[in-house]
Amino acid sequence: MAGIYIHIPFCKSKCSYCDFYSKTDFSQRKELIDCLIKEIHLQKNYIDENVETIYFGGGTPSVLSSDELERILSALEANFLIEEDAEITLEANPDDLTAEYLNALKLIKINRLSIGVQSFDNKQLKAINRRHSSEAALTAVEVSKNNGFNNISIDLIFGLPEQDLASWKEQVNKAMYLDIQHLSAYGLMYEEGTPLWRKMKKGEVVPVDDETSIAMYHYLVKTCVENGFEHYEISNFAKPDFRSRHNSAYWQEKTYLGIGPSAHSYNGISRQWNILSISQYCRKINQGETFYEKEILSLQDKYNDFVMVSLRTMDGINFEILQKRFGEKMYNHCLKSAEAFINNGKLAIDKNFLRLTIDGVMTSDQIIVELMYVS
Ligand code: SF4
Repeated sequence: MAGIYIHIPFCKSKCSYCDFYSKTDFSQRKELIDCLIKEIHLQKNYIDENVETIYFGGGTPSVLSSDELERILSALEANFLIEEDAEITLEANPDDLTAEYLNALKLIKINRLSIGVQSFDNKQLKAINRRHSSEAALTAVEVSKNNGFNNISIDLIFGLPEQDLASWKEQVNKAMYLDIQHLSAYGLMYEEGTPLWRKMKKGEVVPVDDETSIAMYHYLVKTCVENGFEHYEISNFAKPDFRSRHNSAYWQEKTYLGIGPSAHSYNGISRQWNILSISQYCRKINQGETFYEKEILSLQDKYNDFVMVSLRTMDGINFEILQKRFGEKMYNHCLKSAEAFINNGKLAIDKNFLRLTIDGVMTSDQIIVELMYVS
């Protein structure tokens, strides 16, 4: 089973923390969609198994009309074997989710929504230049449910400007009342070069301290678990049977094909990434030139990928699989590198699995780097 990711690099406005590639100028919209469809035809041999998930990400895919999304989906159906019960997700901005649009999405078989809420506090939303309001977020979830969507995820961000621990608790509690199936929650990152990073450099915003950040994460995990969510990945929580099948496929190292500017693909042997810029992507697709870079994965690369994706899941690293796939040398490297973190309570061994503890999650990037193998 495989997955397909479609990258839609347009946003109506830029959020001040975001360093993803997306443009607010939609003049290349039609050209881009034509090129996405061309790429789908060009890549039809990349996957030789059934496709069980399709994910429209971005950017803001909900800026596309249902007709535009349908054109893309029809091209996928014409070139790949899509499972009858495939999970088809659309990332959406709350402002875009009108009843009429949602009805049209249902008709084209989109069956999962990932709504970028980020916060239910208007001051906090304004501080990061989100284009929707708290009221719009609540309405979007309600209208989606009323229009038959029963697989809804929302995103929240903790550690926002204007947010203290008490306010974060309110955000989490509000999410629990929404009767949704999935929640993704990320700590705010001050990415270099973004407007928010510049404000931080000038002292106009102050990042939350580590202690508050850890308390926010602890509250999130505790509250989600108490409300029937399973904490299945560092940043992801799902009601039973509602884990994101698409993201789980990444963590299980299944084949995925990424379509569109900057999209990544992986098939267990190599990974490749498409050129970032819309103009160059379209030009290369139209002129029949190579539009991606590719690297063949060594055993060491595969081990490093395995460590990274496994540690992000709450199951952790399966030692049996590690030994079988990568041999004694890398198994011993992993155990030895993990020792210090096991001793300070950031990692724990449970049966035959090595996993992050809740305290370890906050420094997971550093731990993952230490466990990687560099020859
Ligand atoms: S909507 Fe998403 S992709 Fe677009 S600017 Fe905001 S965070 Fe970035």
